[in-house]
Amino acid sequence: MSRLVAVSNRVAHPKGGRAAGGLAVGLLAALNENGGLWFGWGGKTSHGQPSAPEIVRRGNIEYATIDLYEADFEDYYNGYSNICLWPLCHYMLGFFRFERRFQDAYKRVNNLFARKLLPLLKDDDIIWVHDYHLIPLAAELRRAGVANPIGFFLHVPFPNIDVLRTLPGYINLLRDLIHYDVIGFQTANDCRNFTEGLSREGMLQAKLEHDRFRSSGREITVAPFPIGIDVDGVMQMAEKSAAGATIARTLDGLAGRDLVLGVDRLDYSKGLPERFRAFETLLVRYPETRSRLVYMQFAPPSRTGVRAYQDIREELERAAGNINGRFAEPDWIPIRYLNRGFSRNMLMGLMRSAKIGLVTPLRDGMNLVAKEYVAAQDPKLPGALVLSRLACAAAELDAAVLVNPFDVEGMADGIQQAANMPVKERRERYEAMIQALRRNDIDAWRTRFLETLENAA
Ligand code: ADP
Repeated sequence: MSRLVAVSNRVAHPKGGRAAGGLAVGLLAALNENGGLWFGWGGKTSHGQPSAPEIVRRGNIEYATIDLYEADFEDYYNGYSNICLWPLCHYMLGFFRFERRFQDAYKRVNNLFARKLLPLLKDDDIIWVHDYHLIPLAAELRRAGVANPIGFFLHVPFPNIDVLRTLPGYINLLRDLIHYDVIGFQTANDCRNFTEGLSREGMLQAKLEHDRFRSSGREITVAPFPIGIDVDGVMQMAEKSAAGATIARTLDGLAGRDLVLGVDRLDYSKGLPERFRAFETLLVRYPETRSRLVYMQFAPPSRTGVRAYQDIREELERAAGNINGRFAEPDWIPIRYLNRGFSRNMLMGLMRSAKIGLVTPLRDGMNLVAKEYVAAQDPKLPGALVLSRLACAAAELDAAVLVNPFDVEGMADGIQQAANMPVKERRERYEAMIQALRRNDIDAWRTRFLETLENAA
């Protein structure tokens, strides 16, 4: 069997740091099964020439990490990846800003990734590159003579060509993507956006089969692979954790009120200010909820080097303070806002204990928290999920209470509906959702992608 070489910007290094982020959580679960090499940035920057990769083995996974030039990191990561591509892919052009030096650093870092990965590669490896930070990697590897199968998976949405054209040099991204054998997206809609983009740029010569195309002389497979979770793993962790002392203490602190839970990276795409306003609207419209609910929101800061992320952090701190100041009673604080990462164990236990899960991003490639919330539930007494229609997870989890995250009043009504939902209905919705999660779990995601890549190559 060929060895899997997974490449992503960050590696969830075994020596430290929690994996907060869908990519890290999903990829680790995928690699755990058959092992392989995971290559990427280790989280450190250097002033001089970055040295050879540092290699650590844990179980059946080898982690190879490199440093990045201090000077390039800012423009490649904060700049091109998170000020250009992230807002563009999430249709949030108000946050988009372009500078030539961002683009140059992005190219240099992808070239560095290729040079450092090259000596580690074996002839029969199959290479799986992840996410928007590394779109040019296959083109760089091909230029260096690598003929191995190379697949790409985009964890975020792929924008419509009219939006993509906002980005100067967008055509290079399309050209670079064609060097992969398989280009995987979260949904069929993303696939359509990509192939339509190729077609409108005159880069699509033929459709060979339903998901195979000829573009610029290469044959490519373009297909949806919606990412899933380790359903049994989450279920077991949640059950065990919910029975432990920490969760019991936390629930005691709620004094009989029901827990409404949000778990997100602190990111403007997650719709947190709108969600806070929805909770405030709920307290005003349905005053009886004041004696019934406590909203706990976890939001560990991310991408702190980007201004927009500093701004949203301040906005949320103010909003939480205002709402608590306005509504709190001596024995009740409406919002508990926790601004740091916590162990998965604790989060899964809380998810199981929460009567309502709130997942309301303004746009999301998938959203694993929604899936984790469902998997964490007690099948006999499940909670209700309030989910944004604009998260791609809503395609599979359409038995959730679906809301439009821009409609604050609609979200308040959604929370109210969830709070009053009879157990029977909660069970029916849970059954439909857990079946969808089982049909398409993390193993199915990995297996389908890698089989497609092996066949395509
Ligand atoms: P994104 O990839 O945009 O961050 P996802 O919802 O797809 O969004 O994935 C987030 C992942 O990070 C989930 O697996 C979630 O459990 C984890 N996570 C989110 N917040 C925290 C936190 N405060 N502490 C630890 N893990 C977190």
